[in-house]
Amino acid sequence: MSYVPEKTIYLCLAHMSEEGIEQKYVKEAFDTNWVVPMGPNVNGFEEDLKKFVDGNHEVVALSAGTAAVHLALIACDVKAGDEVIVQSFTFCASSHPITYLGAKPVFVGSEPETWNMDPVLLEEAIKDRIAKTGKTPKAIVPVALYGMPYDCSRIMEIANRYGIPVVEDAAEGFGSKFDGKVLGTYGKFGVLSFNGNKMITTSGGGALICENAEDKNTVMWYATQAREAYPYYQHSSIGYNYRMSNVCAGIGRGQMTVADAHIAHHKYVQALYEDLLKDVPGVHMHKQPADARYDSNFWLCTATIDKDVYVKGQENAYKEVVKTAVGGAVGVIHAVDSPTTDCQPNENVEALRLYILSKKIETRPTWKPMHKQPVYADAPVYTNGVEEEIFKVGFCLPAGPYVTDDDVRYIVECIKEAIVE
Ligand SMILES: *Cc1c(COP(=O)(O)O)cnc(C)c1O
Repeated sequence: MSYVPEKTIYLCLAHMSEEGIEQKYVKEAFDTNWVVPMGPNVNGFEEDLKKFVDGNHEVVALSAGTAAVHLALIACDVKAGDEVIVQSFTFCASSHPITYLGAKPVFVGSEPETWNMDPVLLEEAIKDRIAKTGKTPKAIVPVALYGMPYDCSRIMEIANRYGIPVVEDAAEGFGSKFDGKVLGTYGKFGVLSFNGNKMITTSGGGALICENAEDKNTVMWYATQAREAYPYYQHSSIGYNYRMSNVCAGIGRGQMTVADAHIAHHKYVQALYEDLLKDVPGVHMHKQPADARYDSNFWLCTATIDKDVYVKGQENAYKEVVKTAVGGAVGVIHAVDSPTTDCQPNENVEALRLYILSKKIETRPTWKPMHKQPVYADAPVYTNGVEEEIFKVGFCLPAGPYVTDDDVRYIVECIKEAIVE
């Protein structure tokens, strides 16, 4: 194959509108001196999001998706000592805010079809927590991993039966649908993220989808330091500084003009991978269930590689400590003294990552299940081991609007090249 990309093909990069609409709104913020965490762009972005989700729900724009999870839990009355059920197979932002509140995460494993919260395990967990603690968990947090919808129908049925509010973590599932409805509109709250690598971006930011104006009001109050109506600062509750900046919201308004195009492109790239990888033995794309209710945005395309497939350089995998971490450009990373942990992707997955990185392609292992993280060593877990198995064989493939047809063909060729027949 003669095509070689000019630059590294990253997993998912921010992609602005061709016309620079984002900059027009940002300039407006400067021109009108609305350089604060409120203003016309914040209101406009919230309106756009409201229309996008269904026109009935309310939306609060926040400084991060993590902040949205945190405030949703507060609005569900999660307090220190309470238990919250959360999908184990996720990014840490789904579960960390539970611990911010002094509450305890209870992890639930995944079903093989969607890789998301297994409804059977969910019910088992609820029953067992009630039996063991005498208390009902305060909230349930399912996660649309890589954009794939969870089984909204069964999860909502179980949650409603036990009277437990659902906080949908749709941070990766912006615009994904289940049975024609956008994710985030099934539960009491729906979390969105506009971090730089998500489906649309505000550089960093998030939002919380609320069922009604009253909930929106509560969330806004906590997001703006929980102030009482006095001419001076008076506080009867602990609040947070979590509102979105009017500058960032300007980016968001511009991004909303390309949101549908982004989603369509992610789905298109997924279909191309599925087609090109279908005859590669031992490599399997993660597809959405044949059930027509599932409509994933395919934020990241993911695949698995069988343990017995031999990848070039596999004998050297995990021999050296890596100097950077996954998502390595972000922040400070603690150095480690061992190249391995007690739960990690198979050698061929690591070898594949390194081989195709040498071809200027970024891949990443699937997210390491939270119940296997040292920081959550003591948390209860209800699992059949599905997510741990996927973590050992899974990897993520580039999928953003920057990824061209030629890129996908090149990536697939490099994967084939890496495999020793
Ligand atoms: C990105 C993400 C979030 C929110 O992250 P922020 O970076 O704070 O916007 C929450 N949950 C999941 C599963 C995510 O991937």
